[in-house]
Amino acid sequence: MQELRSRDYIFIIITNQSGIAQDIYTHEEVHEVHSYIKEHFANFGIRFAEIYYCPHHPTVSKCLCRKPGSLLVEKGLARFDIDPAQSYFIGDRERDIEAAQAAGVNSILVPSNANLGDYLSMIA
Ligand SMILES: [Zn+2]
Repeated sequence: MQELRSRDYIFIIITNQSGIAQDIYTHEEVHEVHSYIKEHFANFGIRFAEIYYCPHHPTVSKCLCRKPGSLLVEKGLARFDIDPAQSYFIGDRERDIEAAQAAGVNSILVPSNANLGDYLSMIA
């Protein structure tokens, strides 16, 4: 990520957190995890421009923001004036790739907990 930062990329997290809709955990708990992630990465000089999450689950409520829906990807593109053709969505699920493709963003499917350094060569 430091390498990507040096190439002027910004970072956005887009995540499905359907446990909220299913009453498994709360918005506050999700915010706590996000705070931890932000602090941890800040120690290495990495900042996230935004963390977008979908709190919904199709069994509870329908929405457009849950991946593979592309709403949150499009939100990030619009808010930060990002060119989708020069952007990459790195995800570990097929629905991540679908969301990226629907928004015109390049996509890289990686195994869960992959070392992202192994994928740097795929990013222009
Ligand atoms: Zn949603």
